[in-house]
Amino acid sequence: MKVLNLQCAHGHGFEGWFASNDDFDTQLASGLVSCPMCGDTAIVKLLTAPRLNLGSPKPPAEAAPVPVAAQNDSPEARLMRAVREVIAKTEDVGDRFAAEARKMHYGEAEERGIRGQATREEARDLIEEGISVFSLPLPPALKETLQ
Ligand SMILES: [Zn+2]
Repeated sequence: MKVLNLQCAHGHGFEGWFASNDDFDTQLASGLVSCPMCGDTAIVKLLTAPRLNLGSPKPPAEAAPVPVAAQNDSPEARLMRAVREVIAKTEDVGDRFAAEARKMHYGEAEERGIRGQATREEARDLIEEGISVFSLPLPPALKETLQ
């Protein structure tokens, strides 16, 4: 399984999981790779990320007090806004993610944006079945406010 660091034309960074580099090229050429935040299909591949973010959010960045104006333009703030957008547009299915993604893929459930947790094995199985899976780093602070 390949985990690729991708970025859309609007600068949204995200990870795409693919069976192989060829798989990514094929899906990209078919317009199947789109930004999970804005739906843009002008995707470029950044350096390969040999890691998975699911279920293990990065430790919180140092909480240094910053002026509000600067904070609004920080990468963290941009990520936060992007993640909020995703959350607003998707339905949280929790650990039923793999099952729901599969149902939609096979037409047993309505196509919609979903988010949730999947194990590495579940994600690999989904990718092998040709189902697109993206991993977003969820800022720990945001996660807490959602609970
Ligand atoms: Zn985007």
